[in-house]
This record gives sequence, structure tokens and C-alpha cells, in this order.
Amino acid sequence: MAPVPATGSSHSNGYDKFIIMEKKARNGWLRHALLSFTRWFDSYAGGEEMAAAPEKKVDLWRVLPFLFLHLACLGVLRVGWSPVAVWTAVGLYLVRMFGITAFYHRYFSHNAFKASRGWTFAFAALGASSVQRGPLWWAGHHRHHHRYADKEEDIHSPVVHGFWWSHVGWILSTRNFPTPLERIKDFARFPELKFLDRFDIVVPVLLAGGLYGAGALLESYAPGLGTTGPQMLVWGFFISTTVLFHATSTINSLDHLVGSKRYATGDESRNNGWLAVLTFGEGWHNNHHRYPTAARQGFYWWEVDVTYYLLTILSRLKIVHGLRPVPDAVRREGLPSS
Ligand SMILES: [Zn+2]
Ligand SMILES: [Zn+2]
Repeated sequence: MAPVPATGSSHSNGYDKFIIMEKKARNGWLRHALLSFTRWFDSYAGGEEMAAAPEKKVDLWRVLPFLFLHLACLGVLRVGWSPVAVWTAVGLYLVRMFGITAFYHRYFSHNAFKASRGWTFAFAALGASSVQRGPLWWAGHHRHHHRYADKEEDIHSPVVHGFWWSHVGWILSTRNFPTPLERIKDFARFPELKFLDRFDIVVPVLLAGGLYGAGALLESYAPGLGTTGPQMLVWGFFISTTVLFHATSTINSLDHLVGSKRYATGDESRNNGWLAVLTFGEGWHNNHHRYPTAARQGFYWWEVDVTYYLLTILSRLKIVHGLRPVPDAVRREGLPSS
């Protein structure tokens, strides 16, 4: 074999290495872009890789749909409004807020009551319509929050990571994208829930399409209502979902900053009546951190907890059962000692 000249060798080796590195980087970039795009539709694609990403890395490809959701609200300038469209937005806020608080939170995250497998699927589908990812993703991350509340490991502590990270940043981070299945094994064993979790775009797309179709039908058959497909889409989906997202997020951000602490829970969770109204009872967050498995978060009659009231109705209708109560000792502990 002919010897390669020493200088040429080191030169060409260096150049070759450079080419390989550049190729790898390009492949890496392209691969990342393709994977991220795939994840819009299949959220389990490339999970291990994402879990190894740096803690605070925000995924631009995830930001795009989130930004679009917000910008699409400006469509209101074009489509205008009608009472039916506005009431649809309000109705969908209320129903989906209940879906988040009763089911994604109290049921899937904390097992605060029981339900049949069929109803469990219905609860998961309702939660998924809120466009806050799948039930296993939501509940798995929430369990992590309770385990490490306001410690370094807490993925959305405003005290440790700042307000904006706790409100929105953590959702857009690459590392937090995969579902922590090991934290939610009890529900992850049901394939139908795993399906909803993996393809978390399905329910939102059906909802958006349904709203557009309903608007188009009303335009044709009830023109007096003054609505259209695009108008129902903008109000019922984009505006309602954006407001719902920020209202839900206040519990992760503001409710660990503003309000009163009844219990010494070792974290910064607060009770905040305003947030409790906005989120159907979730604002009694210090109570909740004290005793997370209770179906009720307003521990006393004067602490309004709409989610709990509605759950008691579902319990009477035999749709759910075994609502876990607040132990008397915990309630007594919270009262000022006389
Ligand atoms: Zn919390
Ligand atoms: Zn919780």
C-alpha cells in the first residue's frame, strides 16, 4: 500500500472530519426537524432522545403550533362575532375546564374517585379536547410536580424556575415533551388511554372540524344567528382554548406565588379564592398540596369548589363513585386553634 504523505494526510483527515461533522450536524438538524414535525401527529416519536435534552431547551417546532393558537385568535378581526359563537366559546371553556380539573387532575393524577373503564375513556377524551396534551402526559407530569413541589426537580415551580417558565416555558421544552409513563402505570395499562395520549391531536382536530362544520350548517339553515364556519372555529376553538390554557396555567404559576398558606406544606402552594373561581376550585391549591387525593379542594363550606359540586352530582348519577373525602383531622388542623 502506498504511504500517504504525512502533511497531506493530516490535512485531508482534518478536512474529512470536518465534512463528517458537518454532515452529522445537518442530519441531526434535519432529523430533529422531521421528528418534531412527526410529533405533531404522533407524540411518542423519538421519546428517549427528547428526555435526554437539556433542561431548559425550548423546542421551536413545539412553539409554532402554540404561537399559531394565539395568533389565530386575531382572526376575530376578520370573522366578527355573534351571540351563538361567543356562548359556544364560553360553554366550551366551562365544560373543558371541568374536564381538566375533575378528570385530568383529580381523577388521572390523584385517583380521587373511581369510574368504569368506559367512563374513564370518556373522561380522557373530554380532557384531551382542552388541547393540553394527552391524559397520561398531563397526569404523569403533575404527579412529578407533587413529588418535588418547589424543589429544584419541580418542572414548573415559579419559585425555582421563574414565572414564565412555570406558566408556559416548561410545556414547550423538549425534555418535558415525552409522557413519563413510569409515573402513570396505573392508567397506562389501558391501550385506549395510551392511544389518546399518543395521538393527542385527534380529539382537538375533531373538535375544531366539528365547530367549523356546525358554523357552516348554521349559516345555511339558521342565517338569522349570524354565524359562519370560520367564526365558530375562531371563537369556539382558538379563543376558548387559549383562555382555557392560560387559566389552567395560573395554578402552576400564580398559585405558587399569590395567596395565603393555611398549611405548612413545605412548598409555596397558596389558597387563592379568585383563582378558585376561575378554575372551578383549583385555586385552593395549598389545601390540595396538603391532601392531594381528596376529591374536594375547598375544604370548608365557604371555599367554593365547583368541580367538587359537579362531581357529587356525577356520583349521584352513578357515573363516578368513591369520592375520597377530606379527613376530619386535616380539616381541624387547618382551623385556627382556639
Ligand atoms: Zn402545585
Ligand atoms: Zn394535584
